[in-house]
Amino acid sequence: AKAEARGVFRYFEPDMDARLQARRVLENDLRHALETEAFEVYYQPIYSLGAERVCGFEALLRWKHPVRGFISPAEFIPLAEELGLIIPLGEWVLAKACADAVRWPDGLKIAVNVSAVQFTSASLVSAVRDALRVTGLPGRRLELEITESVLVANPGTTTAILHSLKGLGVRVSMDDFGTGYSSLSYLRSFPFDKIKIDQSFVRDLCEEDGTDFIVRAVISLGASLGMTTTAEGVETEAQLARLRAEGCDEVQGYLFSRPVPITEVPNILARWNGA
Ligand code: C2E
Ligand code: CA
Ligand code: CA
Ligand code: CA
Repeated sequence: AKAEARGVFRYFEPDMDARLQARRVLENDLRHALETEAFEVYYQPIYSLGAERVCGFEALLRWKHPVRGFISPAEFIPLAEELGLIIPLGEWVLAKACADAVRWPDGLKIAVNVSAVQFTSASLVSAVRDALRVTGLPGRRLELEITESVLVANPGTTTAILHSLKGLGVRVSMDDFGTGYSSLSYLRSFPFDKIKIDQSFVRDLCEEDGTDFIVRAVISLGASLGMTTTAEGVETEAQLARLRAEGCDEVQGYLFSRPVPITEVPNILARWNGA
């Protein structure tokens, strides 16, 4: 930006004006999308290396924008959080994912992402309880994925919420493990069931840059804390072989399947589980 001495802006950059304008349009579209349910939930299989079959799916939100096509959650989730729309949107995803999953073969789990804003809202536990009651999905088939940013703000409240969720039989996973800070102490302090090793580590596996040792350490740390480990973003056979050798419990990535619409779930089960 062009600024005068002492940092006083003389004028808005036309660029910035356009960006603000575009953002306002996106805001309106997002509000409208929520009213018209212009969202869809895609599912990506999670593969168990112990059972050698698909053991569940992660629900990933998609926004079908009338003009721009599919917009990535990485773009609209932060906006939804800022606008307070993440609460209704998150509750919609939860209800939809549970309703879809209850019709899958028993034993298949459904993992749902929960934003930090949603997690610390007073309504999360009751939203989860409602989704289970309304759909009839047993709590043990639901996993909630949260990132460690949730834990920083208010550790006391977070612990209480985690315990309430576990009281419903629901499992909780720490998502994107290794991308934040003080993950290790968080693992000890909070009752997680699962660690999801971030795809940035998986990408660098087999690169001889020390990543293999980190992944090995995380898997054994998880095991000693009684947690399952899932590796995300597995794209190659070499990565898969390494994760298998290290004793990783579950894997997820394009090597198995991209996230797919609900109609594709039977094909995925037929391909990997023969069912
Ligand atoms: P995430 O929870 O870490 O989800 C994994 C992301 O990695 C997904 O991106 C998935 O499509 C992508 N992915 C899976 N396998 C591979 C692979 O082999 N290679 C590569 N390069 N990528 C892979 P997506 O669907 O675009 O979602 C991005 C993020 O948006 C998610 O990251 C999650 O943080 C957030 N998100 C998605 N759906 C929801 C939701 O319903 N609620 C909330 N709060 N956040 C969501
Ligand atoms: Ca996730
Ligand atoms: Ca992740
Ligand atoms: Ca992520």
